Amino acid sequence: MSMDDRVSAVLSDEHSRLQDESVLEANVEAATAIGDAVETTLGPKGMDKLLIDSIGGIVVTNDGATILEEIDIEHPTAQMIADVARTQNQEFGDGTTTATILSCELLDRALELVEKGVHPSTIAAGYTRAAAEATTIAEQVSIPSESPDIEAAVETSVAGRRSTIEEEYLTEIVLQAVDYAKVNDAIDPDRIQVEIIPGGKILDSEVINGVVIEQSPSNPSMPTRVDEATVSTIDGEITAERPDVDTTVVAESAGTMDALATGDRERLTAEVDHVLSLGVDVLLVSGDVDSWAMDQLTQSGLLVVKQCPEEALAQVANATGASIIAEPEALREQGLGVAGSIEVGGTEHRSLIFIEECESPGYVTLLLRGGTEHVLDEATRIVTDGIASASVSLEDQRVCVGGGATEMEVASRLKRSAKSVSGREQLAVTAFSEAVESIPRSLASNAGQDPVDALIQLRNDHANGSTFAGINVSTAEIEDLRPHGIVDPLSVKQAAITSATEAANMIIRIDDMVMAEQLPDEQGEMA
Ligand code: ADP
Ligand code: MG
Repeated sequence: MSMDDRVSAVLSDEHSRLQDESVLEANVEAATAIGDAVETTLGPKGMDKLLIDSIGGIVVTNDGATILEEIDIEHPTAQMIADVARTQNQEFGDGTTTATILSCELLDRALELVEKGVHPSTIAAGYTRAAAEATTIAEQVSIPSESPDIEAAVETSVAGRRSTIEEEYLTEIVLQAVDYAKVNDAIDPDRIQVEIIPGGKILDSEVINGVVIEQSPSNPSMPTRVDEATVSTIDGEITAERPDVDTTVVAESAGTMDALATGDRERLTAEVDHVLSLGVDVLLVSGDVDSWAMDQLTQSGLLVVKQCPEEALAQVANATGASIIAEPEALREQGLGVAGSIEVGGTEHRSLIFIEECESPGYVTLLLRGGTEHVLDEATRIVTDGIASASVSLEDQRVCVGGGATEMEVASRLKRSAKSVSGREQLAVTAFSEAVESIPRSLASNAGQDPVDALIQLRNDHANGSTFAGINVSTAEIEDLRPHGIVDPLSVKQAAITSATEAANMIIRIDDMVMAEQLPDEQGEMA
């Protein structure tokens, strides 16, 4: 019995099986559907998509990764392509649509080659070779980025997501956030917090040079602003100690009770005095604070937040450089944090405390405003992507010219070098170069230009040595885009090429697919 027969023998009627060419055909069909779904969103003139999920929720976006995340993808192959977008998005916050389109185009061309009799493993080998060369070419044509190019990277990432004026504003606040967050020419995206406040307009959003917690002072008569604040964070409580649950204290007379109470009062007094002697201005406590102690602290002019969630406590401790201690007695001068200003603010419905100009650098908060949840969700994605782009371009100081310029150069050099590849692998390298041209083609067509004309002109320009000629979608010109600051980080470009190729190759190599025709429903019964 051959392997095939054995597999068939164990399969019940509920399974369908595809083999060889028909597997690739079915997979390419699935990939094409994915490619079509995102292709029209590429670039700043890309269209928005309205997505409605299974429970009626609405998402408006033109972000490739979001689309693939939100739509129900059942087909396993399509799922593999969506995974490429997800990974690209997690690592770079950008280049997701590019990677998805490229992956689908590579698959489409692989099918054509298979139909011409080229073996899938030859195609995969050719694609791998071409991808390695493409990333090298991208590096060769990359240009060093100076600080203005970080601006360009954020601009390019934000472009096409909302109205121009909102985009400009979001770009501005992302750049402001990046500027605050920059330490030794790098940013730690984990230190940049994005908070949303429903209500208001996007243009009311702001950048806070520090952290923001959703808390309020424990007493309304406490100060609402403290400058040059000394901060202490206590993960514990300031209360009169109660007898341990295990120990039974038998109060034999009223005198014993008083003695107990006096002992507690003395300890509390000592704790409060200790806090005051260290000059603490702002005190965050995760647990409860005894009301007598709270009165003392209030009278001494402190701003106290009790029952402060641990997460907020940690945020403030990290940013101000305060140590989190378990009880007031453990407080030492070196465990205190510092902030330039601490202010109570927020809206009618949400009290916020702004801790700004903190001792530890790099902590920044973007407070996003917007009329609806959808607007806020989209704005959050936009700024998160913008920050990721800035972070990437700070890390890797090189950028590639966008607008399809880099892709055209890669395609044109690959086409030339394909001639030196022997055998049928050459066909795969050429196919790869054509697939890369799908990026400028989509950009042109999304900008309302004739994609055929645009490609012809781009090919000519690049053949004549205009390495940086691309499509300026704002002016519909094909020109050297360097002076226009249309750039993408080199690492994003390279990752998009590599991951798109890996995904395509993985799918090309599948020659046998067994699928359960009807999956059991949630109750585990066959539908
Ligand atoms: P991705 O998810 O791949 O980042 P985008 O929708 O963000 O997809 O589009 C990115 C593409 O748009 C890149 O190729 C970038 O160079 C290009 N692009 C951005 N702004 C412009 C512009 N003003 N003119 C031409 N191309 C642009
Ligand atoms: Mg982008």
